[in-house]
Amino acid sequence: MSENEHNIHDFDVAMICEYFSGLDRQGPGSNEATIKALSFIDNLNEKSKIVDLGCGTGKQTIVLAQNTPGNITAIDLFPDFIDKLNDNVQKLNLQSRVKGVVGSMDKLDFELNELDLIWSEGAIYNIGFEKGMNYWNRFLKKGGYVAVTEASWFTEEQPQEIFDFWNEAYPEIDTIPVKIAQMQKAGYAVVASFILPEICWTENFFKPAIEVQKAFLNKYKGNKTAEEFIKYERHHALLYDKYKDYYGYIFYIGKKI
Ligand code: SAH
Repeated sequence: MSENEHNIHDFDVAMICEYFSGLDRQGPGSNEATIKALSFIDNLNEKSKIVDLGCGTGKQTIVLAQNTPGNITAIDLFPDFIDKLNDNVQKLNLQSRVKGVVGSMDKLDFELNELDLIWSEGAIYNIGFEKGMNYWNRFLKKGGYVAVTEASWFTEEQPQEIFDFWNEAYPEIDTIPVKIAQMQKAGYAVVASFILPEICWTENFFKPAIEVQKAFLNKYKGNKTAEEFIKYERHHALLYDKYKDYYGYIFYIGKKI
């Protein structure tokens, strides 16, 4: 990669981070869905070690903290997200139990069989569902839980337009039975799976983005990368509206065997 390309890439990443920092959620979700997923998990106490991988600015981390005992380490690649998370943690006086740290979900610094729960909303796709499920398993105690959300198909076949979009964005997208079989193969008993309600996408993710997108385009007027990026985000929202019968986010909850 030339130095010039390197700089362009750095700028893109910084800009995209800035955009997502302005949102409470960096992916579809809801407090209710987080709490529902937690209801399937029965092994937690004050000593429990919980990690939230790809936590973003930490909306779900806070919900986790408010609805579980135990200690939470929230990990994300981007320092700005972690700063925002740690600010919120301070404001809510949760700093004795919750800590945001910069790190990567594919290079974890935990002991084998150490963790009680691995959480990851809308983020495992960054390393791939199968790889994440397999790699993370070793850090869980026997009987520990994994809970993730992942984009999945509801039908065996999809209209070409949405098939093409997802195969470009995330070729590992697949049907729910395929994902469940992958979890089982990776060493989990699959405890539950449920579809996130549409409001997790519409009200909670796409709608708050509308104003942020306007402000962002204003700030970066004439910047091709910024314009392309927002165009993509808007296209993503339109496609969801058109094809939401065919795909969505699924919460998958597994228990290590
Ligand atoms: N869990 C949050 C954020 C989801 S967006 C929510 O539901 O709102 C996906 C997040 O994964 C982003 O914050 C991104 O910075 C983070 N991410 C991407 N690659 C990562 C990696 N290798 N390790 C840790 N975090 C990563």
